[in-house]
Amino acid sequence: MKTLHDEGYISIYDNYILDSEIKNTEEKYYFIFKERKLLLIDNQVPIIKDLKDIGLKDDDIKNCLHIGEFYSKDCFAVELVEDFDCEKYIESNENHEFLDLYFVFDIDEESYLIAGRAIQIIDWENNHQYCGRCGAKTVTSDVENAKVCPECGFTSFTRICPAIITTIIKKDYDDLDAEGKPTNKVLMAKHSYHEFIRYTLIAGFLEAGESIEEAVKREVKEEVGIEVEDIEYFGSQSWPFPNSLMIGCICKYKSGEIKVDENEILKAKWFKKEEIEKPPSEISIFARLIKNFKENY
Ligand SMILES: [Zn+2]
Repeated sequence: MKTLHDEGYISIYDNYILDSEIKNTEEKYYFIFKERKLLLIDNQVPIIKDLKDIGLKDDDIKNCLHIGEFYSKDCFAVELVEDFDCEKYIESNENHEFLDLYFVFDIDEESYLIAGRAIQIIDWENNHQYCGRCGAKTVTSDVENAKVCPECGFTSFTRICPAIITTIIKKDYDDLDAEGKPTNKVLMAKHSYHEFIRYTLIAGFLEAGESIEEAVKREVKEEVGIEVEDIEYFGSQSWPFPNSLMIGCICKYKSGEIKVDENEILKAKWFKKEEIEKPPSEISIFARLIKNFKENY
């Protein structure tokens, strides 16, 4: 099985240790969030001694959670309180900005990976304060990354929701290239929910009980009405919007005509390589699937 990391892509563990003890290092990494916006100073995650050094007071902080060690420094996920005034803070602090997590990976892929973990740990902290079974207040486990209920023993781990994203490839015998061979085309669709409406690959969450292959077949059938076969694993990527794991696949067109529901999917069509718009980021798994199609088909 081939994975993205075999191709020289960055791994979260290149310079990050997940379960390290707090070492009280002189400098620390602080991944500071107001809602889902990350604080950057000079386009970087702050490396500082203390939050006070960048003008943050105790009252500004809702959560400060140790999440491991990054480049041999203690690493924290910080959540600011709801009424923290970002605009006022930015006005009085030059080169500081709060950037939506969606855009962080264009700055620094490694920081994006840790930031994605940090926001998911903050969400988990907030969403599992009480036991989902009996309602008692939970405590953080000493032995694993879990919230445990002292009353009934129910354990809650960080929740990760897997989703598939797939290239669907078809040989078009009605569209021959200069050598008389059928052109390879990829199916792309316009989703109604996407903020920046553009053509993208078919994607969707896994349902309880199904395999990755079954999810690919079901999603494709539901969204564009066709049958696919020869499903292969391509690679995966953590996708913290809010807590997914994107599982990239490649499959082949088997049968059927494109038919969209016009509810979730507005339009879908087959694209030649040269017709595909450049993806907005180079490191998303979407971009990597497109790059793979262009280079290998
Ligand atoms: Zn309980």
